[in-house]
Amino acid sequence: MTVNLFNTDGRILEPFKPIKDGNVGLYCCGPTVYNYAHIGNLRAFMFEDILRRTLEYAGYKVKHIMNITDVGHLTDDGDDGEDKMIKAAREKGMSVWDIAAFFTDAFIEDTNRLNILKPTMYSRATEHIEDMIKMIQKLEDRGYTYVAGGNVYFDSSRFPEYGKMALLDKQELQHGARVVVDQNKRGPQDFVLWFTMSKFEKQAMTWDSPWGKGYPGWHIECSAMSCKYLGSHFDIHCGGIDHIPVHHTNEIAQSEAANGEKWVNYWCHNEFLLMKTGKMSKSKGGFLTLQSLVEKGFDPLDFRYFLLGGHYRSQLVFTWESLESSASARKNLIQKIGSLKENTKPGSLERLGESAKSRLMDFNDHISSDLMTPRCLADLWGLLKDNNVTDEDKLAVAFKMDEVLGLKMNTYEVEDERSTISEEDQLLIDERAEAKKEKNYNRADEIRDIFNKRGYVLVDSPEGTYLRKK
Ligand code: AMP
Ligand code: ZN
Repeated sequence: MTVNLFNTDGRILEPFKPIKDGNVGLYCCGPTVYNYAHIGNLRAFMFEDILRRTLEYAGYKVKHIMNITDVGHLTDDGDDGEDKMIKAAREKGMSVWDIAAFFTDAFIEDTNRLNILKPTMYSRATEHIEDMIKMIQKLEDRGYTYVAGGNVYFDSSRFPEYGKMALLDKQELQHGARVVVDQNKRGPQDFVLWFTMSKFEKQAMTWDSPWGKGYPGWHIECSAMSCKYLGSHFDIHCGGIDHIPVHHTNEIAQSEAANGEKWVNYWCHNEFLLMKTGKMSKSKGGFLTLQSLVEKGFDPLDFRYFLLGGHYRSQLVFTWESLESSASARKNLIQKIGSLKENTKPGSLERLGESAKSRLMDFNDHISSDLMTPRCLADLWGLLKDNNVTDEDKLAVAFKMDEVLGLKMNTYEVEDERSTISEEDQLLIDERAEAKKEKNYNRADEIRDIFNKRGYVLVDSPEGTYLRKK
């Protein structure tokens, strides 16, 4: 199976060809861990999960590296603003190290709940300071840096290809499209590789370096860690589209300048998850987490199903109504699979009937055409409703499709930690179901809150609503 991917570098849909036969080096920009991941961030990690699963489905062995940005960084990509980690530590009364450890665990837990496969390796920025220093030294030796105001900068005027992947118009940038806040920068596209002069007092995370005690700029961590684990030339690099103009542009400049060769063959970026009010953002606050969906009674896999319903390169608007529809579609799916499983066992993929075979081929075409997951969901339903496909084949093909979709079709089980429901509570639960049907979400939320206050979560499972102790 040839996997076709849209490459941001060149803006072209092209067949994926690995550098090393049968293998893929995949690097994904991971989370900044000064807060919970919001459901927008989780869309990025879900897209990367689908990409990885698709490559594995196509027979590749994938080495998947994801960084954890646990060094404090500024609230703005362009080296401006307040240090995010210090801000969070101050607000929560914890140390920056504890903040990073706490939110790293929370992130990993969220991805587990979404059935996102663990990367081959998480690489923590704080554990790779030496590698970053080595790369900055390499850049220094090659004449790509200057020191100003105590910080080490990347000199982008020495790298003529700067901004090529992002299609940045250099002229426009030079003429002040972006305000140069840092007076030490010689050019607006220059960026900090190493800070010794922090703008903030009590910088908690600092390390010794040839340029003095300080801490690395954000961009250098991805270059240093990806090259360390995947080599100086690897296959695929991913992230959200917001990373194209600054973070990934800077990563390319410093990596190619340091190594003197092309760095990454395919750049794949996901579009945003939006709220009706616009983009969700960690720094602006007021965002939804996976836990907040769970507290409303949704299963994390309902959110996974919801995300599968949008193509990763299209914007997707989150609404509670669409999450409800995804939850109910997933419920139907689990019921359908459950009843098939009661009657039969999955057949052999080698001996599929013609209709089943052609359903699977459609799915393969769609997933390998730049990961068209909405079409793949339709293929799954087409299969399950097809009277020309035997039950054995339905199960075999659905489970095969699930290698990519990750909906736990074969293993999903409702948690058994249910509490017994009194007659009175059952009436409230029924009233809530009625309210939801009538789109009276205020009343539905009120009822959920009644249980919440008593220490219970209402869980809407494919087998009906039940109560779980918090
Ligand atoms: P961060 O933890 O802020 O570095 O973000 C982690 C990942 O989420 C990055 O790849 C971002 O590009 C991506 N991202 C941030 N906001 C959104 C959003 N609203 N929708 C989809 N992806 C996002
Ligand atoms: Zn990165």
